[in-house]
Amino acid sequence: MPVRSGFDSWVERYFTGAGFSGVVLLAEDPRFEGARRIWNGMIDRTPALIAYCRNTPDVKTAIRFAGETGRPLSVRCGGHNVAGSAVADGAVMIDLSLMRAVAVDPGARIAQASGGCLLRDLDRATVPHGLACPSGVFSLTGLGGLALGGGYGWRCRKLGLTCDHIIGAEVVLADGSVVEVSQSQHPDLLWALRGGGGNFGVVTRFTLRLDPAGPMLVRSAVHPAERAVEAMRAYRAFAPGLSDDLHLLGGLRRAAPADPVPPGQRDRPVLGVTIVCSAADAASADEGRALFEAMPACTVAARTISYLDLQSMGDTGSPAGRRYYTKSGYLAELCDEAIERLIASSGRNPSRTGSIDVECLRGAVLRSGTSESAFPQREAPFMVTVSGSWDDPGLDQDGIAWAREAIDSVRAWEHPGAYSNYISQQESPLEAPAMYGSAIYARLAQVKQAYDPDNMFRSARNITPASTQEPHATQ
Ligand SMILES: Cc1cc2nc3c(=O)[nH]c(=O)nc-3n(C[C@H](O)[C@H](O)[C@H](O)COP(=O)(O)OP(=O)(O)OC[C@H]3O[C@@H](n4cnc5c(N)ncnc54)[C@H](O)[C@@H]3O)c2cc1C
Repeated sequence: MPVRSGFDSWVERYFTGAGFSGVVLLAEDPRFEGARRIWNGMIDRTPALIAYCRNTPDVKTAIRFAGETGRPLSVRCGGHNVAGSAVADGAVMIDLSLMRAVAVDPGARIAQASGGCLLRDLDRATVPHGLACPSGVFSLTGLGGLALGGGYGWRCRKLGLTCDHIIGAEVVLADGSVVEVSQSQHPDLLWALRGGGGNFGVVTRFTLRLDPAGPMLVRSAVHPAERAVEAMRAYRAFAPGLSDDLHLLGGLRRAAPADPVPPGQRDRPVLGVTIVCSAADAASADEGRALFEAMPACTVAARTISYLDLQSMGDTGSPAGRRYYTKSGYLAELCDEAIERLIASSGRNPSRTGSIDVECLRGAVLRSGTSESAFPQREAPFMVTVSGSWDDPGLDQDGIAWAREAIDSVRAWEHPGAYSNYISQQESPLEAPAMYGSAIYARLAQVKQAYDPDNMFRSARNITPASTQEPHATQ
């Protein structure tokens, strides 16, 4: 398709001449304003142009254009990155939303997913075959950012992270060349793609290992804030013996209209506890029931739902366009004082929306090691994620301060590092090395040096090439 109207003639000639088959938008195009916006309404950046690519040659053209014009580059898949790494001021923004095809080989239990897929594109293609790749809990999140950064979800304790399922990829590098990545071709890059984020090139196709997927049992309960300490203690006592088939999430938030709480409790701070396991696993179902019996008495809802329904269960909770700020960290322990502080922070949330989530990790997340992937801190037992959200820009300062204070309040029990996909912004240049740990970071920097020595892919949490690093990063 030729480049559309409203274009600077030089840009038009460049893309048309290169045989670009997608759509390029410049600021004067009426669609530009909507196209530059991403999920987090707080991100307000204006790229120089947005290149909607349809295929790998289009991606090559957009990367070359950025290189030749000296413009920064950003890559958008689902646009869900809370820090807004998909869009940068003055940049060439590569939008992959026209590249969402998925091909499934059920016999080999493998999916080939295009680089712009949303999680639901992947699930909708694989689940009819009784298969799925474990991924995140919102079906509108992009596979690209989630898988490259890690990918926690309802089945990570049973099956590992999404990045552990990447067995190959097609990647367009900074110099415009295309490489096939697998265990035997560019194994160093495969290692880095499993957790190192979008630092190395544009992944135009992921090859993913699939696992059997069937109906799931979801059990949930809502405790009023006054009983949250007691309920969280039962949660903590239960966590170490949790079987890998179960995923356990506790969310401190305000009661939602659908929650089974008395009318007087509506909109009051509550602790929601959700346990998910395979409906076919009777032993795990019993285990989940036992946890709720150990908690203070409350209404427990249990239902069996399809795998696709599980994956989209949370979709309405975080609408696009609201203002979001997230801080996250790992916890080494969930002692009484940490529980009390988190509950107190929840009560101070200046907004009616948002939550503090506590997740039990480990299980299969631990089974893959640093020799197979760049994903760090697999041994962390708990993750706390403070998700602030509000509509009124006037709440920005208070909402951001609240999220920071809530995480700071439990720093005494922190486990090193943090999940890069749950962090709102890079607050210090030391953050990426601290997040990965020095050994993984140093290896990532070597891979970066080999595949993107000029640091073209730097809009996300950045791994700087080894040759340009300050001494602290490679120690
Ligand atoms: C509502 C919501 C729910 C979430 N739930 C979960 C969850 O359950 N589990 C979890 O682990 N995370 C979850 N996340 C976090 C999520 O993993 C990150 O926000 C992730 O960055 C989103 O990926 P994206 O493709 O949508 O983002 P984008 O903003 O489009 O991309 C983020 C960055 O990833 C890189 N990137 C994306 N695609 C490619 C590609 N094809 N090639 C190269 N680089 C690429 C680029 O650097 C890009 O800037 C959630 C986020 C939100 C907003």
